[in-house]
Amino acid sequence: PSWPKTAGLDYVDLQKLLLTTPDAQQAREWSKYYTSGPHLAGKNLSQALWTKKKWQEFGVENSLIIDYDIYVNYPKGHRLALLKKGKESKEDGPDAANYDSSWKIVYEASLEEDVLDEDHTSGLVDRIPTFHGYSASGNVTAQYVYVNYGTYKDYEELLAANISLSGKVALIKYGGVFRGLKVKRAQELGMIGAVIYTDPGDDGEVTEYNGDATYPVGPAREPSSVQRGSTQFLSFAPGDPTTPGYPSKPGCPRQPVDHAIPSIPSIPISYQDALPLLKALNGHGPKASSFNKYWQGGGLGYKGVEYNIGPSPEDLALNLVNEQEYVTTPMWNVIGIVNGTIPDEVVILGNHRDAWIAGGAGDPNSGSAAFNEVIRGFGKALEAGWKPLRTIVFASWDGEEYGLLGSTEWVEEYIPWVKDATIAYLNVDVGTNGPHFKASAAPLLNKVLVDTVGLVQSPNQTLPGQTVRDVWNGHIFTMGSGSDFTAFQDFAGVPSLDMSFGFGLKTPVYHYHSNYDSFDWMERFGDPGFHYHATIAKIWGLMAANLVETPVLQLNATDYAIGLRKYVDSVKDKADEAGFKFKAKKSLFDPLDKAVARFHKVSASHDALAAHLYQQLLDDNIPWWKWWEKVQLYYAIRRVNTKYKLLERQFLYSPGLDGRPWFKHVVFAPGKWTGYAGATFPGIMEAIDEDDRKAAYKWVGIATGVIQKAASFLE
Ligand code: GLU
Ligand code: CA
Ligand code: ZN
Ligand code: ZN
Repeated sequence: PSWPKTAGLDYVDLQKLLLTTPDAQQAREWSKYYTSGPHLAGKNLSQALWTKKKWQEFGVENSLIIDYDIYVNYPKGHRLALLKKGKESKEDGPDAANYDSSWKIVYEASLEEDVLDEDHTSGLVDRIPTFHGYSASGNVTAQYVYVNYGTYKDYEELLAANISLSGKVALIKYGGVFRGLKVKRAQELGMIGAVIYTDPGDDGEVTEYNGDATYPVGPAREPSSVQRGSTQFLSFAPGDPTTPGYPSKPGCPRQPVDHAIPSIPSIPISYQDALPLLKALNGHGPKASSFNKYWQGGGLGYKGVEYNIGPSPEDLALNLVNEQEYVTTPMWNVIGIVNGTIPDEVVILGNHRDAWIAGGAGDPNSGSAAFNEVIRGFGKALEAGWKPLRTIVFASWDGEEYGLLGSTEWVEEYIPWVKDATIAYLNVDVGTNGPHFKASAAPLLNKVLVDTVGLVQSPNQTLPGQTVRDVWNGHIFTMGSGSDFTAFQDFAGVPSLDMSFGFGLKTPVYHYHSNYDSFDWMERFGDPGFHYHATIAKIWGLMAANLVETPVLQLNATDYAIGLRKYVDSVKDKADEAGFKFKAKKSLFDPLDKAVARFHKVSASHDALAAHLYQQLLDDNIPWWKWWEKVQLYYAIRRVNTKYKLLERQFLYSPGLDGRPWFKHVVFAPGKWTGYAGATFPGIMEAIDEDDRKAAYKWVGIATGVIQKAASFLE
């Protein structure tokens, strides 16, 4: 839509600036800066100060640093050794209680990523060791079991097959669910340590065993690469685990952390280091493939791994040592503010700045580099005289990697204002690590998303002129967790969106949270030419401009209703599948169906009213002497916008979900045992999973209540 009266600068000219400013070469320069050395959470003030200074140079003078004191760990030491009783070896085993000198080391894991000449940050002296965020210190020695992906279901199947888990160390494959939940379940089942490795079988089709050369020569996985990452129990609550629900300001009270982070030690390892451990299980316990098809996967067959479950025999054990130092330390968000004419309508854009490694060219700095280009574009518009209609807030978050720390603490601190004023939150974490556009969004933002990607040329065209929308599969994921939108969507009820250009089955392997997520990898394999960096910046900027400048907000309530219909249907399917018997199933879901139908009707008329008012505004044919009609039109628009703004908030339920009260949204939450993937109607879904009829009744009631409340609110 074009609005001819944008203050100081026509909307079309604003769009033009946001389309033409983002520059691939300039993004490459920002990427080079951000990826030039370690910027672990709480360890790099200079990059926060630099970011603030740049934003001010771009024209966002009101840029400041907002800090929190947050409880986190930094790595001190680690060790992983495979021990065998009585076997000859050059070294002695550890002198742990039951592991005397008759135990010999058969393999000592390197726990380090190789230094590569072709990758200039892989050899920095101050590079970050391999470790897990929020992992527990410990020194354990025990038999071990291969537990596949370590999903809730995987562990259930192992128990059903009478595999003994208690007292053992879990050898877990990365993938499927958030890593912290793999450790959480292991701990709950009495396991005493966790080793998580990256299996090349999950790398798609670009692998060494398919004949591809490994990085840095080719696009396949570098065999020593390790995925660092947080093991916080993120589906309990993100943010500082000592301050759930309130900001970590200096001197604030602190809560115990046992329910929020692991108490058993864990470490991440490479497939090279996993190989001897997996091979040593050959012939012990059932084969993974004897479970079901899903368990067969594993890409190390060509190296002689048969993927037996174990447990390892009594004379074969793992010694796992993890030493972490816990501190409460400052972290720095950079916040840039451009005031609009309407003070209580705010659009927030955010990206995290901290990385696990020196590089982080994909995660997060492809996003950070693009962010600077977005802000540079808005800066040019301000310079040209533009006065935004609504307020824009830019946020460069610290501490995302440990558990969405910077964004969560900030939302917790400003929650009254965030809830009162925020229209939408637009997140970009990884800007690009491949060519495939991917997005998740609250349904209210579907329309803005789809409209905007249709305005930007794709760097990858099979036909000239194709936009990102033309080459995108059009799928919009529901909001789960795993990045900084979580506090906005699930705690504050702000419609949020997350997008990136991601990798696929046939694209170069992305070395997630590894030293090889580096500038050199990005330049050679991830985004040669940095065109996807510029493209995500264009999309992000135009989307923000739409939300900031269109006088009648382009949120779409009917899309929410369509979403709700789908989610209710999948609740019903799940109840059927689970053979979940209600006394009178029909009458249980009836009120929910009715509420959704009413919400749909009310939404459609709200959207129609919004479109009608917008048309009246564009037609602009109210004569000047009927000034009172004009004023009425403005008031009507203001009312429509306020309802759009506050609609998502109606779906919050302040006591929160059962057992995880921080999560307030009745419709969206991270899956309790998936973390990344979103659950819809989590209260009802979990009640069905847990076969808890009383909870199911309760949550159908709550869901019905919030949908009716939202409908009445719109009406
Ligand atoms: N994005 C980070 C990860 O996936 C942090 C996620 C979190 O702790 O919520 O490891
Ligand atoms: Ca907090
Ligand atoms: Zn990230
Ligand atoms: Zn990350």
